[in-house]
Amino acid sequence: MGAVSASINLDTWRDLPAAQQPDWPDRGELDRVVAELAGLPPLVFAGECDRLKAEMAAVARGEAFVLQGGDCAETFAGATAENVRDKLKTLLQMAIVLTYAGRVPVVKIGRLAGQFAKPRSKSVEVRDGVELPAYRGDMVNGFDFTAEARRPDPARLLRAYHSSSATLNLARAFTKGGYADLRQVHAWNQDFVAESPAGRRYDQLAREIDQALAFMRACGAQPEEFHTVEFYSSHEALILDYDRALTRIDSRTGLPYDVSGHMVWIGERTRQLDGAHVEFFSKIRNPIGVKLGPTTTPEEAIALIEKLNPDNEPGRLTFISRMGAGRVREALPTLVEKVRASGATVAWICDPMHGNTFEAPSGHKTRRLDDVLDEVAGFFEVHHSLGTHPGGIHIEFTGDDVTECVGGGHGIVEEDLALRYETACDPRLNRSQSLDLAFRVAELYRS
Ligand code: PEP
Ligand code: MN
Repeated sequence: MGAVSASINLDTWRDLPAAQQPDWPDRGELDRVVAELAGLPPLVFAGECDRLKAEMAAVARGEAFVLQGGDCAETFAGATAENVRDKLKTLLQMAIVLTYAGRVPVVKIGRLAGQFAKPRSKSVEVRDGVELPAYRGDMVNGFDFTAEARRPDPARLLRAYHSSSATLNLARAFTKGGYADLRQVHAWNQDFVAESPAGRRYDQLAREIDQALAFMRACGAQPEEFHTVEFYSSHEALILDYDRALTRIDSRTGLPYDVSGHMVWIGERTRQLDGAHVEFFSKIRNPIGVKLGPTTTPEEAIALIEKLNPDNEPGRLTFISRMGAGRVREALPTLVEKVRASGATVAWICDPMHGNTFEAPSGHKTRRLDDVLDEVAGFFEVHHSLGTHPGGIHIEFTGDDVTECVGGGHGIVEEDLALRYETACDPRLNRSQSLDLAFRVAELYRS
């Protein structure tokens, strides 16, 4: 440990109230697992986190746009090559639409390789008179509605680490090993073109890109940037024992980084100023996000900035607003304005998912694509009218043709939700809805 690190106490959060932590039945077992995690290799390098921080600084300056997305809750069973490939493929397609049609560099961040823990509004779930602990993500307990599955099990923290490691390895291979080469823009869409309006629209765009590439090749230009993609991982750092165990001192700088993911964020339910999450995040040097819901006051936002980014380091802090389509136009302007007036540098990105969830008559939790699009439009309107930069979107999506959100090119209606409702938590956009959104955002960006 370097001289700097010796003076940083990474455990001050332990004295503060930590919301949304599991009720581990066996503290001794948790301690053993945490000790094992602390000895395992980092999943990401501090230098990579710094590179993302520099890219987020460009976002805050208005020179780049963030596309952050993936499952609401990753599952261990879902960490297959096919699933990871399809999520990446959808993310790459969305990024291409934004880069080409929106004419803006896109920072690509997955809700991937670590998104295994969920905050819950109720700590128990009742079905047919049976009450069990709520599902808190595969990192904590099992999805099945049995007492056995729902018992929090510290061994799951280790599985989360290994599942993240395998997922990240695949993501690195896909993005660096030729699959993400721009000459593949058509291949990513092959199984999809004929099936949906978004797929056909993408196909047209891919044709134009192919022509541009052919032209550049003929001119002798073969830039390195066309062959691989920079891809970053992120998750909500909810279970503090896990993220603390994966926090390491960077040998270059002597500073602590949470090496379980490149970027980590604090959720709407755990952003209390005097709470354990904000305290822990104030100590790590990763680029970080904080979700801001419609009840956030400007004073809270400013206090978060003072606590989490006192030196006003560019790229360090991103505010992820999730207001709801009906409230974004009234709730967001004051926040953005007051933050700007404070002189603080933050990136603003829009999560158009979490303020727009409702329950369909069938009991399925769902979202309307129209509401998602409307919140994004509201987000752009607010930033355009204030002269600030709409810096990106944060979404829940999957590469599969699920039926979890209503609307979009396939015309999914509430009665269809049961057909393919596969999420372990919140409803995700399917591939076609994700592309619809990307085209809409590209239009908004250029307007
Ligand atoms: C989430 O991102 O899945 C989530 C729970 O969001 P929020 O903290 O904004 O409610
Ligand atoms: Mn969610």
